[in-house]
Amino acid sequence: MPRYEYRCRTCGDTFELSRPMAESSAPAACPSGHDDTVKLLSTVAVGGSTSAPAPAPRAGGGGGCCGGGCCG
Ligand SMILES: [Zn+2]
Repeated sequence: MPRYEYRCRTCGDTFELSRPMAESSAPAACPSGHDDTVKLLSTVAVGGSTSAPAPAPRAGGGGGCCGGGCCG
């Protein structure tokens, strides 16, 4: 059964609940009994690595401008 993380907006506490996926968006009371809670995003996906999609291989010329005919 998947685990979901929630945060209580009343006391600011965060807690996890194991519940069926069909009830993932159902209201969840915090351990202190507050009903004003929000579901946090799943932390299953790995994060922290900076995304650098542009490798920019700039090694020794070739290609680029002179390949397109703009240099003569
Ligand atoms: Zn609470």
